[in-house]
Amino acid sequence: MAGWNLKNGVITDYCCSDDCLWSLFNHVFSDSSRKRNTYKFGFIKALLDNLFNGFNTAEGLFLSYGQIFGRFTENYWNLVVRYNLRQMRSDGRSEFSRLEIILNEAVGSNPVCAFLEFDSLDFIRKTEIIGKVADECRKYVIGALYEDFDGVIYSFDLNGSGLTVNRCVYEFMLRHKSELEKLNYYAWAKFLEKINSGNAAVYLLDKLEAATPRRGDLSVYQVILRKEFEENNCFYCGKKLGGRVHVDHFIPWSFVRDDKLWNFVLACPSCNEKKNNRLPKHDLLIRIEERNRTIMQSDDSLVQKDFENYSDDLPSRIWKYAKLSGLKEFQDNSRSA
Ligand SMILES: [Zn+2]
Repeated sequence: MAGWNLKNGVITDYCCSDDCLWSLFNHVFSDSSRKRNTYKFGFIKALLDNLFNGFNTAEGLFLSYGQIFGRFTENYWNLVVRYNLRQMRSDGRSEFSRLEIILNEAVGSNPVCAFLEFDSLDFIRKTEIIGKVADECRKYVIGALYEDFDGVIYSFDLNGSGLTVNRCVYEFMLRHKSELEKLNYYAWAKFLEKINSGNAAVYLLDKLEAATPRRGDLSVYQVILRKEFEENNCFYCGKKLGGRVHVDHFIPWSFVRDDKLWNFVLACPSCNEKKNNRLPKHDLLIRIEERNRTIMQSDDSLVQKDFENYSDDLPSRIWKYAKLSGLKEFQDNSRSA
C-alpha cells in the first residue's frame, strides 16, 4: 500500500482542470481507493469543514494540523461515542481502528463523557484527545490521500505544523462544497453499512450529517455583540431589539458548518424565523463586512480566536459559493432604519 508511509510531498500540478479533479475525487470515493477504515472520508470532511478557517498563501490554503484534527476528532466523537458506529473492517486481529480505541478509552476513564458534546469536555481533556488522534491518524491518512490524488491535493510535511491545499483544488472545493460533502457521505455510508448492523446501521446518512458539531448555546455571542458592540437593533429590519433576541448565522450554518463571530448577527425573532435557511440579501454584505472591520479591532480573546485568518471579503466570497450550492436569497424589504 503506497503513500501511507510518505513523510512529505509537494504539489505536482498547480492547474488541474475541473474534469481532472472530479475524476480524482470520484476515484477516492470509489472502492478502487483502498480503505481499511474510514479515515479518508473523515479527513476529506475535516478539510471541507475548514475551508473558511485557513490562511491564504501564494500556493493555496494553509491549514494547521490542529485545525484539521480538531474538527476530525469532533466529528468522530459523535459517530463513535454517540452513535456507536464501527469505523474499520476487521482485519482478523482487531475489530477497531486506533481512532475508535482512543475515543473509547477517553470515555472509559470517565463514562460521563459519553453523554457530553465533545466541545463541552474540559480544555485539557479535549487537547489530549485531539493530540492522540492527530499523532495516530495523520501518519495513516495524509500520505495515503496525497497518493490517491496523484500529489495534486496538497503539499505536506508531517514534521511541519500543517498542510497547504493546492490553490486550484481549494477553489474547486469551494465551488463544489455541498456536492463533495454529499458524495463523501454517500461513500462513507456505504462503507459503514457493510461493517455495522442493528440500530447502529439505521439512518446512516442522517448520522453522518449530524456528526458535524453545532453549538446549541449561542448566548455568549449575544452578550458580546450587545454589550461590547452595542448592537441593539435587528440586523435585518433595523427595529429595536426587545427581550427576545436571536443570534443568527448570517450565511446559514447548513453551508458554513461552523460557529464564528464574524458570521453572527443579532436579529428579532420574526426576521430570524422568516430568513430561516436562506441567504441574506446581497446588499447586506457591505454592512456585515463593515461591522466586522470594527469588531475585529477588539482585543477580547474570543473575538481574536474567531477572527483568526479572517479576511475582509470572506463573507462575500462565502455568499457567492453558498448561492452556487443552491441556497436562495431572503427577500424582505421591511428594513426601516
Ligand atoms: Zn427584524
